[in-house]
Amino acid sequence: MSKKPLIIDVHGHYTTAPAALGAWRDLQIAALKDPSQQPDPKSLKISDDELRESIETNQLKLMKERGSDLTVFSPRASFMAHHIGDFETSSTWAAICNELCYRVSELFPDNFIGAAMLPQSPGVDPKSCIAELERCVKDYGFVGLNLNPDPSGGHWTSPPLTDRHWYPIYEKMVEYDLPAMIHVSTSCNSCFHTTGAHYLNADTTAFMQCLQGDLFKDFPTLKFLIPHGGGAVPYHWGRFRGLAQEMKKPLLQDHLLNNIFFDTCVYHQPGIDLLTKVIPVDNILFASEMIGAVRGIDPETGHYYDDTKRYVAATPNLSEEQRYKVFEGNARRVFPRMDAALKQKGL
Ligand SMILES: [Zn+2]
Repeated sequence: MSKKPLIIDVHGHYTTAPAALGAWRDLQIAALKDPSQQPDPKSLKISDDELRESIETNQLKLMKERGSDLTVFSPRASFMAHHIGDFETSSTWAAICNELCYRVSELFPDNFIGAAMLPQSPGVDPKSCIAELERCVKDYGFVGLNLNPDPSGGHWTSPPLTDRHWYPIYEKMVEYDLPAMIHVSTSCNSCFHTTGAHYLNADTTAFMQCLQGDLFKDFPTLKFLIPHGGGAVPYHWGRFRGLAQEMKKPLLQDHLLNNIFFDTCVYHQPGIDLLTKVIPVDNILFASEMIGAVRGIDPETGHYYDDTKRYVAATPNLSEEQRYKVFEGNARRVFPRMDAALKQKGL
């Protein structure tokens, strides 16, 4: 490959939104006890200049330093907190957060493209999320969504992802050709640290649910992106292959890998080496989740832990053509609407 790949980071959240956003959310949460204090979404004022500054001094600065071009950008995952309040609470909150990501994508159209947060709420029919999802696709040009398999925040009260409960969302995903990143939010169960345990547990759990079920027989074109390098999945690939065999499932390649993809949010070289050795290259998409859970500098390397481009570039397991797939080609295939948007720009 002589052409330099476009570096597409499929996992970024707006973790650096101006403080007014968090302050508005605090008022919304406080009003759950006293509905007369419910804040008006219109009372939240964030200017374009504030948005610009929050991006230029953070994500965009690091993207330029590290050499990534485009980020799939969704609302801050830990702030989704679907367990708080009811559907109305989540609906108002998701609308505000999605609109901010849309505005960022309008201010920096070459660098950010949106993915939707859904207004999920524990015990509420996922059908209730469709209106917001449609708005994000039709009005905002979003190219993916984050689906929380556990809106209870660490108590796992929803049925598995293979249950018909979730089908209304899958039907829309198929209709619009949208992949879902399977992404939990903050943990309100003190047994599970949010980003150190709950996130990785959920990644592993989502994969195992799909392994046990036959979801992709019903939805052959449905696409799930399992973040954080797939949780424990690549490391324990032999266990999963063995379990599938015992359950008389097809080989994982046929059973799951036409539909399930993993990102590269693994914050050290040996992790990326393992991921790229175990998981077929067509199923790996570059991502950093920057600026996210792990913001420090690794004293062993002198580089940021979440500078994952470095690890993908350095792994001996990928040829140049395979690296192109991880950085660009696979993202175009898994996010067809993003591919179309890029092609429209001549990219
Ligand atoms: Zn994330």
